[in-house]
Amino acid sequence: MNRETVVANEMTIPDFLQQDGRSLEDIMRASLFGDENTPALCEDGCEVEADGRCPHGCRSILLAAGMI
Ligand SMILES: [Zn+2]
Repeated sequence: MNRETVVANEMTIPDFLQQDGRSLEDIMRASLFGDENTPALCEDGCEVEADGRCPHGCRSILLAAGMI
């Protein structure tokens, strides 16, 4: 997996999905085809643009997953 920048407080994708309760596919559909912002891999629960980062430097889950 290509990680250009390692962010200390960024959650892993499996950890985030376990906490969120949705699958990555569900989040992708809601973000790309719905009106929802994309969750960032942030313990503070930030939501960002699909290809963005939150103010803490955490990437959107779709960006981190290489889906964007
Ligand atoms: Zn954040």
